[in-house]
Amino acid sequence: MPVDSAAREILEWYDANARAMPWRRPPGANVAVDPYRVWLSEIMLQQTTVAMATPYFEKFTEAWPTVDALAGAEDAAVMSAWAGLGYYARARNLLACAREVTARGGFPGSEADLLTLPGVGPYTAAAVASIAFDEVAVVVDGNVERVMARLFAVETPLPQGKSELRAHAAALTPTIRPGDYAQAVMDLGATVCTPRSPSCGRCPWQGRCAAFAAGHPERYPVKAPKAARPTRYGTAWWIEADGHVLLVRRPPKGLLGGMVALPASEFALARGDGAAPVEASWTTVPEPVRHAFTHFDLVLEVATTRLPRRPDIDGEWHPIAAIDAAGLPTLFRRAAEAATAPRLL
Ligand code: SF4
Repeated sequence: MPVDSAAREILEWYDANARAMPWRRPPGANVAVDPYRVWLSEIMLQQTTVAMATPYFEKFTEAWPTVDALAGAEDAAVMSAWAGLGYYARARNLLACAREVTARGGFPGSEADLLTLPGVGPYTAAAVASIAFDEVAVVVDGNVERVMARLFAVETPLPQGKSELRAHAAALTPTIRPGDYAQAVMDLGATVCTPRSPSCGRCPWQGRCAAFAAGHPERYPVKAPKAARPTRYGTAWWIEADGHVLLVRRPPKGLLGGMVALPASEFALARGDGAAPVEASWTTVPEPVRHAFTHFDLVLEVATTRLPRRPDIDGEWHPIAAIDAAGLPTLFRRAAEAATAPRLL
C-alpha cells in the first residue's frame, strides 16, 4: 500500500472530521502542543472514554495547570480528584511521573526517553512523542488495532495477532504530520470503523480495505475465546456514630491503593464475612454491590451498624451528610449509597 497516498487520504478526512478535545490542537495548525496536557489526557484515557475523561481533564488542568504544579500537589488531593475515574494505580503513577518530570526539568522530548518515566508504557510514550513532538512514532491502541485488522483482513486472533497489527501500523505511519496521523487513525476507529456496524460508506480507506472488499468487516479483529472471569466476594462495613461514618485509607499498593474507603474484608474467591472491625449488631443490606474490576467481578456485601458513640478504632470519622465529598472510589460510593438508601418495610 503506498504510504503517502494512504496518509494523505486519512489526513484530509481528519482535517474535516477531527473530534474537538480540550487537549488537542486543531488539525494541521502550526502551534506547539503542551506535552503535559497530552500526557495527562493519555493517562486518563486508558480504559476510559473521552466523554468520561474530559471533565476530569478540565478539573485537573484547572487545579494543576502545569506538570510542576501537579508534582507539588498533596497525594490525598490528587487521589480525591481522581475518585470515580477508576484504575487508581494510574493516579499514583501520575504523581510519581509528574515528580520525576519536574526533577528532570521537563518532559523528555523523545519516545525512547519518555519510556523511562514511571507509568509510561509503549502506547503513552509513542502517543506523547508523536502528538506533542511530531516524532514518527507508531501509536497503537485498540482503535488502531481494529482498523489495521480490517484494512489487512488479519486472521491471527488477538492477543497473538498484536505484533502483526503493529507491523501493519508501523508500515503505514508516514513522515508527514505524524501527530495528526496518529490521532486521525484513532478517530477513524472511534467514530467510523466502530466495533459493531462500521460506517464504511464514510471511510476514507474504503477503497483499500480488505475486510470491506470481503463483505464482513465486523469479523475483524478476530478474537481468541475469552477465559471465564472469576467472581470474588467481600464485605464492606458501614459504621455510623454521631452522624459520622468511619472511613479508612487503603494501603498504598494493591487494589484501590491509597484511596479513601469503607473498612472492608479481603476480596476472596469464596464467600465469607471476614472479621468485622468492631463488635456490634450488624444489618446486611439486601442487595450486594456488584462491580467489575479488570480481572474479576466482585460481589460486595454491605453490613451496617449504628453505635451510640464512636469506638476507638483506626480511621477517620466523616460527616455522613458530606459523604459525596469524601473522595470515595466508585465501588465504595455505591456501597455508601446502598448503606444509606431508604428501605421499604
Ligand atoms: Fe473500517 Fe469499513 Fe473503513 Fe474498512 S472500510 S477501515 S471496515 S470503516
